[in-house]
Amino acid sequence: MSTVYPFARPLYVMAKPAGARCNLRCQYCYYLEKQHLAPCPDSFPEEGLSASPESLSRGGEAARGTMTPKLLEEYIRSYIEVQQMPDVLFTWHGGEPMLKPLSFYQQAVRLQRFYGRGKHISNSIQTNGIYLTPEWCQFLHDEGWLVGISIDGTQEQHDAYRLDAQGHGTWQRVTDSIRMLNEYQVEWNAMATANHHNAQDPLAFYRFLRDELHCKYVQISPVVERIKQHSDGRHLAQLFDEDCPIAPFSIRPEEWGRFMCTIFDEWVKRDVGEVFVQLFDATLAGWMGVEPGVCVYAAECGHAAVMEHNGDVYSCDHFVFPEYKLGNIRTHGLPQMLYGTKQNRFSRLKKEALPRQCRECPWLKACHGECPRLRFLKTADGEPGLNYLCAGYRIFFQHVAPYMDYMRRELLAGRPASGVMRAHL
Ligand code: SF4
Ligand code: SF4
Repeated sequence: MSTVYPFARPLYVMAKPAGARCNLRCQYCYYLEKQHLAPCPDSFPEEGLSASPESLSRGGEAARGTMTPKLLEEYIRSYIEVQQMPDVLFTWHGGEPMLKPLSFYQQAVRLQRFYGRGKHISNSIQTNGIYLTPEWCQFLHDEGWLVGISIDGTQEQHDAYRLDAQGHGTWQRVTDSIRMLNEYQVEWNAMATANHHNAQDPLAFYRFLRDELHCKYVQISPVVERIKQHSDGRHLAQLFDEDCPIAPFSIRPEEWGRFMCTIFDEWVKRDVGEVFVQLFDATLAGWMGVEPGVCVYAAECGHAAVMEHNGDVYSCDHFVFPEYKLGNIRTHGLPQMLYGTKQNRFSRLKKEALPRQCRECPWLKACHGECPRLRFLKTADGEPGLNYLCAGYRIFFQHVAPYMDYMRRELLAGRPASGVMRAHL
């Protein structure tokens, strides 16, 4: 019988302890409406004003549609048990994971120690930062958790779309939280979006993160959504929906290209080795012929599944749709779900569905057609499957190519890539 552990790589499942629930109403959010797909029996009132860790911890948690203590233990036990590597990474995601109270995560750590049996366990949590408190910061510091925090730039940029349930901007509260993380020496990175609004001033965006927040790690995700009204109340399109208008908050392809080129020009003169921008790192990895640290720029998908609050496991955070459900942790083993036929097919499709334009593209080594969720364009000769942001990526890769060539040569010669800052290219 063949082994159920065919890959010498970590099995990775992000957990969503509060499901799609969130205390905010960011206008571009793709996940909030997942509540329509897996409705909670007692979901937030429409106005969402009473959503808080305290309100969720009152009453029966199962009935309120967040992860129960029993499921938490089941997840931690089985997730550790199936790992073939000595390092185990837990990622707590949302919705907003801090809707679960701190005591939930303190219990998670106790369970990780109990079931860990010598494995090295690390945790990261991705949050909007609104519920961070000194007590939370102390815990994050003491346990060595990495925090990914959503921030879209200056106040004017961030508050354009990142609003609370009453329609108020959240920048002040988020930046206060980031300063608190810095005070408690908690390691954090910025989970930013590039959208139609902040794309107009990339330098203000980048300099604010670097100079005001002292951010060292920046992940920038382009916001692209299309509008489609569904009968169940959802209003965003899925991949195969056709003729759907682009949502107004979305970044346009050329904006994306220019945004990243402008930030790159600032970074490559003074910040290489000091500030880590995920796209730049991934592009250099592509130039070096090694795996990038992010699936979007890798040749294949499917190495990061997500688990909803009720134990349902899906292929990817961007494919939480019924057809991409792999099973439920209560009834299906994680290896069967993650190494099974369905997920393997999902992984390979990224490469197999590339249109000829991508297969012959000089930037394929770094782009790989980017994320399949955005492949809703046709190529010039009518072939489906071209990424919406392709024109932007071509601008970007063309622009950074001489610098990537230079850094590649430096690394191959055993010198640091930061030498590029002194190069005249
Ligand atoms: S669909 Fe996109 S986000 Fe999901 S695994 Fe593939 S590249 Fe990553
Ligand atoms: S730049 Fe465009 S054509 Fe080239 S691999 Fe990326 S999406 Fe495909």
